[in-house]
Amino acid sequence: MIGEPLVFVATSDLAGLVRGKAFAESELAARQTRGIGWVPTNALITCFDNLGDGPYGSLGDLLLVPDAETRVVVDYEDGSPAENFAIGNIVTLDGEPWECCTRGQLASALERLQSVAGLQLYSAFEHEFQLVSPQASDNPAFSMHGHRLQAHFSEVLFAALRKAGVEPDSFINEYGRDQYELPIGASLGIDAADAAVVFRQIVQASAKRCQQSVSFSPIRDLDGVGNGVHVHLSFKNAAGEPVMYDAGGKHGLSSVAGSFIAGVLKYLPEFLCLTAPSEISYQRLTPHRWSAAFNNLGAQDREAAMRICPISGRMQETIARQFNVEYRAADAAASPYLVLAALIHAGVQGIEEQLPLPDATTDDLSLLDTAQLTARGIERLPQSLSEALSRFEQSDHTDAWFGETFKSVYVALKKAELAYLDGLTIEQKCAAYGRVF
Ligand code: GLU
Ligand code: MG
Repeated sequence: MIGEPLVFVATSDLAGLVRGKAFAESELAARQTRGIGWVPTNALITCFDNLGDGPYGSLGDLLLVPDAETRVVVDYEDGSPAENFAIGNIVTLDGEPWECCTRGQLASALERLQSVAGLQLYSAFEHEFQLVSPQASDNPAFSMHGHRLQAHFSEVLFAALRKAGVEPDSFINEYGRDQYELPIGASLGIDAADAAVVFRQIVQASAKRCQQSVSFSPIRDLDGVGNGVHVHLSFKNAAGEPVMYDAGGKHGLSSVAGSFIAGVLKYLPEFLCLTAPSEISYQRLTPHRWSAAFNNLGAQDREAAMRICPISGRMQETIARQFNVEYRAADAAASPYLVLAALIHAGVQGIEEQLPLPDATTDDLSLLDTAQLTARGIERLPQSLSEALSRFEQSDHTDAWFGETFKSVYVALKKAELAYLDGLTIEQKCAAYGRVF
């Protein structure tokens, strides 16, 4: 049969989906300058495809411009077209960044981190997902038997990720039902969020080629654990040296890293709707699901919003290179660009305010009442999307970080998402998100 290769130019949008348009591969060089037409109101399409009320209506034109550096071509050599895409930036017709381009929002957050603190972010996304195809077999967690059943899928996936420029670390038959986890290597700046976008697409594509299907939805089984996205964060200075660790600092953290973490924890309730952006995200963020229910720091605690990760090195230099902190209150309904942008803005705010690092908690915070939590400077995170959205709307800081237009569009989009779900049972809501993420 005849066929002509097409390239898909992709944007990770406010709704947490990857959307875009395809054009002939032969036009790629020209499209890197002239892009392809995009419409402002697209930013108001929810993950369920209903439209939020926003400022744009039928007016306006934008360009979605592929970034050649992000090009992915993965030929599975199975007779079907290769995965062939590039991530784009949404710009105005004058070529200026557009306020609702998530990748542009991250670029400006990274510039703020650089100009305020002289730091580059070095980060990695760790995803959990579940097999949802009929072949899913409910294996015992971490079992070799379970691994063997998915050996074909895992090997295809490793090869495809490497071809896509993403470095797979390990394939883990996680604790949840038919749940898997695949950590990937860390990257500097925007590359880490690009890698997360590519990762999700390649997992979906590889599953499909293996006649499987997977879901990254935040929670599928209310009696079980959720699918988390844990973001590992550290910093490098202009010379590329790690600056997270200080042997003499509290919990081994340098003073700048301590203030960054303190800022993330202080402002977490105000930006949570960007990293846990679905209604069911808040079912996952409940105590005893090993996610995050409070704005606390933990060392060996997998229920902390920010966890200081264990390291295997003994030499100071190795420790400094490995030292990182994990943010646990994100899921795959969120655009990776918005997750990093929110963390950076809150962290830089903490640096500007010279906030001290809080003590790491070691006890079960769900046993404390509000007064006891307040005395320790901790609060229970918002418990629904509407509560998280109100905190976001009321926050002056988020206006300054993201701009008022972005904020009003995001809130309108999420209100439309909530309107779509109105009247559904929680099980039906989980099923609805399970169909899109
Ligand atoms: N499934 C848990 C979550 O929703 C994480 C379990 C773990 O890997 O610590 O974040
Ligand atoms: Mg895990």
